[in-house]
Amino acid sequence: GMTIGILGGGQLGRMMAVAAIQLGYRVIGYAPAGDNVAASACDDFFENGWGERDALAAFASRCDVVTWEFENVPLSAVEAIPEAMLAPHPKALGIAQDRLNEKRFVEELGAVCAPYVRVENDHDFARAVERVGTPGILKTARDGYDGKGQWRIGSAHEVEGIRFPGRACIYEGMVAFETEFSVILVRGRDGDIRFWDSSANTHDGGMLVHSVLPAGALVEAQVEQARKIAAQTAEALRYVGVLTLEFFATQSGPIFNEMAPRVHNSGHWTVEASATSQFENHIRAIAGLPLGGTATRFASVDMRNIVGEDALAAHEILNEGGEPHLHLYGKRDARDGRKMGHVTRVSHEAP
Ligand code: ATP
Ligand code: MG
Ligand code: MG
Repeated sequence: GMTIGILGGGQLGRMMAVAAIQLGYRVIGYAPAGDNVAASACDDFFENGWGERDALAAFASRCDVVTWEFENVPLSAVEAIPEAMLAPHPKALGIAQDRLNEKRFVEELGAVCAPYVRVENDHDFARAVERVGTPGILKTARDGYDGKGQWRIGSAHEVEGIRFPGRACIYEGMVAFETEFSVILVRGRDGDIRFWDSSANTHDGGMLVHSVLPAGALVEAQVEQARKIAAQTAEALRYVGVLTLEFFATQSGPIFNEMAPRVHNSGHWTVEASATSQFENHIRAIAGLPLGGTATRFASVDMRNIVGEDALAAHEILNEGGEPHLHLYGKRDARDGRKMGHVTRVSHEAP
């Protein structure tokens, strides 16, 4: 049988590994030492740094195909693995690792973005706020996730209160959106593309906390346009696997925010509520298997993240009604409001 390699050791890798094991594959993970919760779902796990080229080569030599669960794997590490083994193609990582690159790339394909300006220093920052206006958000161009590396600016005088992070950033206008949604698609090796339904996503402090279906009339009215952009992005990248694009639904149409070249938190509900989950279809795509259906099997779906200390409430959650499907990631501690798990509820009744 085939051996699948996964770069990164977080919960996305863990759930990907579970799907791969179910399909009869061997799974080997690779990530720097840390709280690698994917390790317990893998047949073997390399705890080595991203800079250890020999270890990366040894890892790759045991795999047939290598994928990632984390888009900030350094490109230099990915380049230590033979290109033909990688799926998706590493070009997708290069683009998605930089907010300016990803916005330009998807804009070229016809997407609308919030106004944004590249910012290198304090001086640029003040000028960017003048040009784009307030409210807005300063984001590090690279390495951010779950809202980390972001500063919200309500009015121009707040600029002075922010110590510029000393690395390339982007300043973008705040979008007055009605709903956030993501387009999650899978593209097979033969170019077959399938979409899951788009849930309405709610964030708290920049971190996803809640996804629900149905997503409401506004999202439903503009999901087709957003899918077109997502499909063009996947095709332009000759993408293989699951790709996510995040959008803001506004009265004037969908505004593209960012992409994630991987399975996505807003697709966790697909495990219980879709014909085939995002994790299984990602594995099927990279393994060259036929893709599974992506239809939603319930009238309503509700996925809530368990963040930080809330993990202690597992017993309470299982005692609640609505047949909760509880997923805990086995993280060692709940510091810094980390994502500790999630709960999905499905219903044949519309809300
Ligand atoms: P992720 O964990 O999804 O990778 P991230 O740290 O890369 O998150 P973003 O997705 O850019 O960050 O921003 C996090 C959240 O902050 C968004 O989902 C949205 O709720 C809010 N946000 C970001 N940019 C804007 C914007 N321009 N206008 C309005 N809200 C925004
Ligand atoms: Mg992001
Ligand atoms: Mg995001």
